[in-house]
Amino acid sequence: MTIKNSSPLSYKKGKLHFDNIPLASIAQRVKTPFYLYSEKTLLDNYGLFLDSALEANIEKPLICFALKANPNLKLLKSLARAGAGADIVSQGELKRALDAGIKASKIVFSGVGKTGEEIKKGLKAGIYSFNVESIEELELINSEARKLKKKARVAFRLNPKVHAKTHKHISTGFKTHKFGLLKEDILKSLKKKSLWSDTDLVGLSMHIGSQLTCLKATKKAIKELGSLALEVNRPLEFLDVGGGLGVDYGPEEEKRFSTPKQYMEIISSELVSSFYKKYSFDQKPRIVFEPGRVIAARAGAFITSVVRTKKSEDCHFAIVDGGMNDFVRASLYGAYHDILTEKKAGKKTIKTDIVGPICETADCFGTARSLPSLKAGDLISVSDVGAYGFSMASHYNMRNLPKEVVISLKGKLS
Ligand SMILES: *Cc1c(COP(=O)(O)O)cnc(C)c1O
Repeated sequence: MTIKNSSPLSYKKGKLHFDNIPLASIAQRVKTPFYLYSEKTLLDNYGLFLDSALEANIEKPLICFALKANPNLKLLKSLARAGAGADIVSQGELKRALDAGIKASKIVFSGVGKTGEEIKKGLKAGIYSFNVESIEELELINSEARKLKKKARVAFRLNPKVHAKTHKHISTGFKTHKFGLLKEDILKSLKKKSLWSDTDLVGLSMHIGSQLTCLKATKKAIKELGSLALEVNRPLEFLDVGGGLGVDYGPEEEKRFSTPKQYMEIISSELVSSFYKKYSFDQKPRIVFEPGRVIAARAGAFITSVVRTKKSEDCHFAIVDGGMNDFVRASLYGAYHDILTEKKAGKKTIKTDIVGPICETADCFGTARSLPSLKAGDLISVSDVGAYGFSMASHYNMRNLPKEVVISLKGKLS
């Protein structure tokens, strides 16, 4: 049981608190299972990311929060007020971003499968950029733009052919992955006039994966992005370096992980110090970011209560009312998340498996965790679930979606 520095969770007088409010008092008002978010932690992380960019001499960075990490309307409104843009991957996310008050001029649309209908909606809204992942997609954007008599703003997503060291399900920048375009195909397409009748190339983008801890592949990919921009040799409004910066979830993650400051220093050295000097047009392209996890993960906890305990031989189980349908990262990626009990553990602990009610063995939040002896009704908190938590929840086993509660900056529950 450890609590990370920037976490909204803390123990006071042996009782678990969230944003300094006793968890027990929150659980009296909201029935478990539910997601609990801290607006303060979210904004702190956004602020840290932005400030790290500015301190690394990255001027006018545009931070497009990746909605797929957490599309909660209240949190998005808060990010919108702080000036954030959005990285979206569907028309549902487009609508949510606009509803939250995020300006269309700060929205980038990623994804390999944009449909004609989605492209039309993006064009009508007037989004900042379609990050194009194939020539076929560019053709469709061009024809939809022609029909609407609009010029589409597009950026190519480069596939930089790098192996990002992360879980294989969330590595996206190698040539065998479905994402992005190879450099030679991008350069070839620029010569094909018919593709550009109703489109403008305004930028270049990349995104090599998620939960990146070692930034070697990132550095290499950013270098590739810069060198492509030089070869393209025309004025560009922006270079979008994607998202992916990892979060320290706990003991099973690699110890060596990078901070926003280290990340920004790499970007600054590749782009500001190196690329900008070689770029021949007056207006240097601004740098766009698409972080999700690093902004939202710490801001959320998943609160569930023990339904009953069970012992078989020397295995101790705490069966809780939340399941893998509510929070799937542990089951899907074998991801580690800290688990805290409402009462702080003393010296005497029992190695316990925290499992859900779903009929799958993978329905497990953590195994052999040293926890105090538990009984029915006890509250459990799963830490750092503000990214890819609720957004991946499902109705599996015909269960309801979990509730979501936000603690506002003023300490109000809503
Ligand atoms: C998922 C995704 C992101 C965000 O990734 P994080 O690891 O949450 O920062 C950014 N850009 C694109 C294109 C994505 O698919």
